[in-house]
Amino acid sequence: MKNIIIFGAPGSGKGTYSDEIVAKYEMGHISTGDVLRGEIKNGTELGKIAKGFIDNGQLIPDELMIDILANTYDALPQGKGVIFDGFPRTIAQAEALKKMLSERGHDMGMMIELVVDEETLMARLLNRAIEQGRADDNEETIKKRFEVYHNQTAPLADWFENEGLRHTFNWKGSKDLMLEEIFAAIEAENK
Ligand code: ATP
Ligand code: MG
Repeated sequence: MKNIIIFGAPGSGKGTYSDEIVAKYEMGHISTGDVLRGEIKNGTELGKIAKGFIDNGQLIPDELMIDILANTYDALPQGKGVIFDGFPRTIAQAEALKKMLSERGHDMGMMIELVVDEETLMARLLNRAIEQGRADDNEETIKKRFEVYHNQTAPLADWFENEGLRHTFNWKGSKDLMLEEIFAAIEAENK
């Protein structure tokens, strides 16, 4: 399987669709958000640094994130394809990922962009706050995360477009319909 980068605003469903893709195609999965929350839970030095940024809705600095990503990637079994969920989030991270993969004779494969209107995103995240109690899922921090997304991450869509990797999926109100379209695109890429 080719590698997949799953891309979209907070609450767009990156984690949800990643789980479905991983289960169907038996790929590796790197969720940088989950990696960071694990470090916080374990009280590591890295977790302490990360918590300050996450609770403020800010991004962890690129150099730190790029190191974490490379270490996590190298720890996964090779040759099955990996889905990158929550990385890259800046142009610098995208350039670093491209370089890191090419140094290993691999490439980015394809990018899946999830487009969801902001009202739906906010409703989902507030609902997740009740279900999962994530510290950054409160209205004030969510608004900051949207702002960070628009300023630092959304411009990356054009970067992927230029790489010829971008596949865009618009939310039409049904997860099953989205999945059907996403699976078809993945299979077309892996023919
Ligand atoms: P969702 O999981 O619903 O898509 P999200 O994209 O906001 O929402 P995560 O991907 O779990 O959530 O990320 C949570 C937080 O972790 C981010 O707000 C940011 O502080 C930090 N983080 C995760 N990935 C990165 C990254 N690649 N670069 C910098 N910070 C990151
Ligand atoms: Mg997530």
